[in-house]
Amino acid sequence: MTYVITEPCISTCDTACVQVCPVDCIHGPIDKEGAGAEVEGMDSVTGLQLYINPEECIDCGACEPECPVDAIYDEDELPKEYEMFTEINAAFFKE
Ligand code: SF4
Repeated sequence: MTYVITEPCISTCDTACVQVCPVDCIHGPIDKEGAGAEVEGMDSVTGLQLYINPEECIDCGACEPECPVDAIYDEDELPKEYEMFTEINAAFFKE
């Protein structure tokens, strides 16, 4: 089981979720190995989003209420239009 970050995060990248994740498994588009707050110093996050590593997520749910744009869902509760984001999140960590 994992949580998944979806479409509303694109061009938002708020990072409030990153601050509360106890296992640092939320990462940005620049550095897959860092603490997850990679986007904070960027000039623009247009077209970018954050991702949850499904291999590391412990399914605690801490990130979900922190997201200001309601982009985070338990994978079992994903709205149908966001189901593809399960693979999109996982794929970020496979390269
Ligand atoms: Fe991190 Fe918990 Fe959110 Fe998983 S559910 S990404 S472990 S805060």
